[in-house]
Amino acid sequence: MQAPARTRETRQRRVVYETIRTTKSHPTADWIFDQVRTTMPKISLGTVYRNLAVLKNEGLVREIYGGDRRARYEANLEPHAHFICSGCGEIRDIEGMPEIPWETMKDLVGCNVTEQRVEFLGRCAACRPR
Ligand SMILES: [Zn+2]
Ligand SMILES: [Zn+2]
Repeated sequence: MQAPARTRETRQRRVVYETIRTTKSHPTADWIFDQVRTTMPKISLGTVYRNLAVLKNEGLVREIYGGDRRARYEANLEPHAHFICSGCGEIRDIEGMPEIPWETMKDLVGCNVTEQRVEFLGRCAACRPR
């Protein structure tokens, strides 16, 4: 029976995607797994990883790395910068950053540039020494 398995996969993928889309926290796979498990108790961490890979290949989610070098995911594909706290590893979106005309970077670096990523590092208010 092919159809039910495919339906389940589609549903799992949609729940994984919705979990990422509805948070601003740039979650790790473990966090996503914990969330998804509340509605799909039988899902495995391996299934979550597999769905993350598919969503990434389909261009629906983006993989980013925080201060702790763990992969995190977001569904906000609008150009935006990140602030990464070196204390707690939190990643925050910074909207409204002017984009530099990176399509013309090829002239400078001699390579095809396909994406601009801007990261600011520092300490968030909670981690800043008082
Ligand atoms: Zn912090
Ligand atoms: Zn972001």
